[in-house]
Amino acid sequence: MAEDAGGDPLYSCKNCRNPLAFRSDLLSKAFLAKSGQAYMFSHVMNAMLGKKEDKQLITGLFTISKTYCSKCGEELGWMYVKAYDPKQMFKQGRFIIEKAKIVKQY
Ligand SMILES: [Zn+2]
Repeated sequence: MAEDAGGDPLYSCKNCRNPLAFRSDLLSKAFLAKSGQAYMFSHVMNAMLGKKEDKQLITGLFTISKTYCSKCGEELGWMYVKAYDPKQMFKQGRFIIEKAKIVKQY
């Protein structure tokens, strides 16, 4: 079995295989989105951010930006722009990406 030279698996857009994040950017798999399970990433590449909007989520009020694939425009999830609850501020600048929208590639 040959080891991949890069070593770090990638998460890509399920639609167009646009690389979106590295496995090492994955912070948590314990999130929920519309379609079910979602992942939290510290960094996402090749993505576009939508307009900022205030949204009431289970854990409180946040300003979020919807996040889209830069290649095919598929909605992937959102970025936490601002948390109103100080306890939730660690989420600021982080991304929630729906598991159903991405594939893992080695
Ligand atoms: Zn895409």
